Amino acid sequence: MSRAYYVTTPIYYVNAEAHMGHTYTTVLADSLARYHRLRGDRTFFLTGSDEHGEKILEVARERGEDPAVTSEYFSIRFRETWKELGIGFDRFIRTTDADHVAVVQSILQKVWDDGHIEFREYEGDYCVGCERFLTERDLVDGLCRDHERAPERRSEGNYFFKMSEHFDWLAGYIEDHPDFIRPERYRNEVLSMVKEDSGLGDLCISRPKTRLDWGIELPFDDGYVCYVWFDALINYLTAIGYPDGEDFELLWGASEHLIAKDILKPHAVFWPTMLRAIGLEPARHLNVHGYWNLDDRKVSKSLGNMISPLIMRDKYGFEAFRYFLLRSMSFGIDANFSEDALITRINADLANNLGNLVSRTLNMTGRFADGRVPAPDATGGDDALEQAVQDACAEAVASVDQYVESMEVHRALEALFRAVDATNQYLEKREPWKAAKDPARAASVPTTLYTCCEALRIIALLLSPFLPETAAEILARVGLAGALDSARLPEDAVWGRIPVGGETTKGKPLFPRIDPLEPSQQSQ
Ligand SMILES: [Zn+2]
Repeated sequence: MSRAYYVTTPIYYVNAEAHMGHTYTTVLADSLARYHRLRGDRTFFLTGSDEHGEKILEVARERGEDPAVTSEYFSIRFRETWKELGIGFDRFIRTTDADHVAVVQSILQKVWDDGHIEFREYEGDYCVGCERFLTERDLVDGLCRDHERAPERRSEGNYFFKMSEHFDWLAGYIEDHPDFIRPERYRNEVLSMVKEDSGLGDLCISRPKTRLDWGIELPFDDGYVCYVWFDALINYLTAIGYPDGEDFELLWGASEHLIAKDILKPHAVFWPTMLRAIGLEPARHLNVHGYWNLDDRKVSKSLGNMISPLIMRDKYGFEAFRYFLLRSMSFGIDANFSEDALITRINADLANNLGNLVSRTLNMTGRFADGRVPAPDATGGDDALEQAVQDACAEAVASVDQYVESMEVHRALEALFRAVDATNQYLEKREPWKAAKDPARAASVPTTLYTCCEALRIIALLLSPFLPETAAEILARVGLAGALDSARLPEDAVWGRIPVGGETTKGKPLFPRIDPLEPSQQSQ
């Protein structure tokens, strides 16, 4: 059966460098895309940069540059950061790309022709950070709740998308599709946004060029440019060839948006109603994650907290950082970051558990099996112990699939590491380092080592979407270099596929233990 999978990150605003929040969403999307490629699905992974709007103009002014120069600079920084970190996106879209500009203009024209847009005078409190007029509930002590800055009083004539006409439809759609917005907590939040008394009205989609000329021109009024959300959200269509690209319908029907909760409203209210006006179905799922907190504040450029993924890579290795991000955040709920927690996680799961299993298995395969995957010996003894490892691997295969589908990657990794635990426990019971020297038990050693090598093969296969380099290294050490290039789930995760006689390599520790930080080293 041919399946498809289309995963998107938000397009990141190019007024700063990539931080931890961007990195989490992007690593998650990369892992999901890798998993679905392994499943043989038609997969497309989109990320990119959002380049228009007043915030970019502000940064460009500070830098004394043209906004096109500033946005290009940061856009390239983002793209190169992801490439350097091995993120396997299929397209890095820029809202300044010619095909995107053309798609936005064609959609604006269509929606205008169909009567979904009208011109109005408006006066209100405007937040430059949010790029919108604020309502009473956005303000705390006169400051924008999200940006902790005072809004400006503004009045202007603008074009409005008549979004509120679709609220009843949207509420019905969300109720009829209970997993459209997940986890559930955000669905309820959105339902209350579209209730009549919520105060959320229509969407201003333009800016007069007299004030802002950095944007996509409205095709029906050359005195205005398009307001950024209306421009930005359409990137999800441009990238897969709207309106008539070869795989457009297949991929759009399999679309999975990943967002942080700060952009819930644009994605859960603006975007489905825009799609309704355009004549398209909403995305398949809107998947909403929480914030990374550092000293109990959201990690973002706006509040100045920066955890650079490149610095984390240089200090700890990117796969270890990747593991921490994916394993430590329960999807939908805020998580805390500290370097202490990162080190504890690396030592416990990667060095002591997985790394130790790899090094013990391959050490002993070198010593007792001439560095080759031995044939299992049916006379090796108590089959129940071997069966327990096989069962743990089969359980991991099923659980990882289930949890990837439900967007609970932290649980997928937890389930996978139960197979690592089970194999370590098996090794403790079989103790091949003693059995090899005991004539009564020596016959069990080939079976023990075969079982561990085969478990490592299956564990590495399942680990590969999350920690691709580590998985490739483990496979190479059990004689299967390059196996990921043609691997398929679930068929290659069936027990008993490892070639007997394959050359094994002891290698260096995969994840050396890290000493806990001295108080003086703690940067946060
Ligand atoms: Zn704001």
